[in-house]
Amino acid sequence: MAGWTLGIETTAHTLSFGLVDAEGTPYPAASDTLRPDQGGIHPREAADHHKDVAAGLFQKVLEQHELGINDIGAVAYSQGPGLGPCLRVGAAVARGLATRMDVPLIGVNHCVAHIEIGRQQCGCDDPVLLYVSGGNTQVIARLNGRYRVLGETLDIGIGNMLDKFARNQGIPFPGGPKIEQLAKAYLEENPNPDMEGLQLPYAVRGMDLAFSGLLTAAQRLIDNGAPLNAVCWSLQEHAFASCVEVAERAMAHTGKTELLLGGGVACNQRIRTMCEEMSSDREGASFAPPRMYCIDNGTMIALLGWLELKKRTTSLEQSAIDQYLRTDQTPIVWS
Ligand code: AMP
Ligand code: MG
Repeated sequence: MAGWTLGIETTAHTLSFGLVDAEGTPYPAASDTLRPDQGGIHPREAADHHKDVAAGLFQKVLEQHELGINDIGAVAYSQGPGLGPCLRVGAAVARGLATRMDVPLIGVNHCVAHIEIGRQQCGCDDPVLLYVSGGNTQVIARLNGRYRVLGETLDIGIGNMLDKFARNQGIPFPGGPKIEQLAKAYLEENPNPDMEGLQLPYAVRGMDLAFSGLLTAAQRLIDNGAPLNAVCWSLQEHAFASCVEVAERAMAHTGKTELLLGGGVACNQRIRTMCEEMSSDREGASFAPPRMYCIDNGTMIALLGWLELKKRTTSLEQSAIDQYLRTDQTPIVWS
């Protein structure tokens, strides 16, 4: 039976094909991430990468789950937000496959997909979401039928900040995991660390956040001779504490008791621990999906497509991408 939904993710540096079955059960994705040796990601180069690997990766995900093309009953893709050239490749592949297989097409909201895979994986119902990824940093909650952004970064995403700081030290993309290791090494050497001489700006502005000042100040500490692993530790403590503070205020204002982490930075054990501590202090609970569903993945796109397909499909005319699609533009038509 052609009951599987295929999900195609191409918002940034990762191309990923994932699947859910007819009951909406998620299956691991096949992914390929462009990792430039030096410098940041150029949207055109990422788009070319996605084009080059798309056909092989699609075959791979089918083989991985012993499926044939006729098992696919619908095609979902990230319609936004993200980098225009990358999104266009995903949309083109999705249109092509849906037309060729003669199955419904559905464009979905990438940020909302992060929330829904987290809810599904963690079994939480109505969480405040702390969405911390490369390009996005948002605190989100469901209110009146939509996921509302209660606070967000006013400049760069937290992951981009970590990646840029790492790149300046000669650490290749993605820098976040390496910064985590260096910070951990610092704590092993200094079990009772002192912030003296390692202070950084702490940019919480109301419910919003900012990270570019933190990036500049951390670089200045390095330039003034502070050890790299000490600065990595301080950088994580400051950046994560500001996110957790806004998340806590969101929980207090909305009265919600669950916190859900999402996005690539949610792979970090330190931010997971900080969220758990804050939530348990409030007699709430903090959840984080497995790492493969924190980073960008096609499975979350397939899952949201499967949820929304009960109510709508996307015609070819409506299938254009939207780089600036907002989290609160998507009505929640599922439960
Ligand atoms: P995404 O944009 O959701 O695909 O996530 C990619 C971002 O997650 C990049 O900025 C990575 O540096 C970051 N990231 C991945 N793993 C970790 C980690 N363990 N700690 C901090 N950041 C991470
Ligand atoms: Mg993402």
